[in-house]
Amino acid sequence: EAKQQGRNTWQWYGDEVSILMSEHVEMRLELQEAIREGQFLLHYQPIVDAHTGAVRSVEALVRWKHPEKGMISPGLFIPLAEQTGQIVAIGRWVLQRACQDMAHLHAEGGPALQVAVNISPLQFRRAGFLAQVEQVLETTGWPADRLELEVTEGVLMSGTDRAIEVLNALRQRGVQVAIDDFGSGFSSLRYLRQLPISKVKLDRSFIHDITHNGDNAAIVQGVITMAHHLGLKVVAEGIEVPEQQRDLMDRECDLLQGFLFSRPVPLDQLTQLPMHLAPPRRDLPLTRPTGL
Ligand code: C2E
Ligand code: MG
Ligand code: MG
Ligand code: MG
Repeated sequence: EAKQQGRNTWQWYGDEVSILMSEHVEMRLELQEAIREGQFLLHYQPIVDAHTGAVRSVEALVRWKHPEKGMISPGLFIPLAEQTGQIVAIGRWVLQRACQDMAHLHAEGGPALQVAVNISPLQFRRAGFLAQVEQVLETTGWPADRLELEVTEGVLMSGTDRAIEVLNALRQRGVQVAIDDFGSGFSSLRYLRQLPISKVKLDRSFIHDITHNGDNAAIVQGVITMAHHLGLKVVAEGIEVPEQQRDLMDRECDLLQGFLFSRPVPLDQLTQLPMHLAPPRRDLPLTRPTGL
């Protein structure tokens, strides 16, 4: 389209691209400094057991506290860090810090939670990844079965043999693996059967309109039924209103995560949260799309 509009458009695109590129170069340098100076921090979001309302696990989510720009969300810098390879250093820090925080929390008399850590594709595919996990478990003393790694379906779909090798090694070590953002890519349910994983996290895009969109509701039901058939647990993320909670509970979803229960919070606030969040409610009126 730009081509048809002639030379000026190209020119304009050129400027746009170079602005974008210089922004990237700048952020890349700033990320380098952030890694050096330790400008990252972790927030934790509780994951609620749909049957009991108990919180037995949390997801660690990285934040970048930029000295001038303030808090920068991972959606803005993780994709770039993935491109530049800086995600490897950031990811190593996240893994170490999350296990350290949880060990600390438990040592201080807090609950023994399971912690879920997001692992980027590049990090997962690196030759030293298993050694990295091992080293973190050793240095923090955190039990392997209280660590869960969240990987996106893309990681498992490409380079499959090697990915399955790594998954098997993790399983042997006792580390759990969940597929994050399930349904947002191209993974088939059939494919799930071959993977040594323990959980599926339904992508937020299916949850946000689940009570109004019959197609999404049907997909969610299909994933839950199939996952259970394969012995996997299902987490729904992005639950914001009680109607979504109710709907997912009716569909036998195992675990619930979202702003309705709690936003991601710093460790010291996590300890303030009740470890039973929003006990299951069966009394809410439910509006469900017709035809289901
Ligand atoms: P994700 O792993 O799917 O994490 C869930 C995201 O949904 C988080 O965004 C969380 O704050 C948000 N969320 C949770 N409940 C709700 C809700 O009820 N409503 C809405 N609107 N959002 C909700 P966040 O923290 O901005 O992270 C975004 C993404 O960045 C994550 O998606 C993950 O892909 C990536 N990310 C975050 N931390 C890390 C990390 O340490 N390493 C890597 N590799 N990626 C990370
Ligand atoms: Mg995640
Ligand atoms: Mg997710
Ligand atoms: Mg997501």
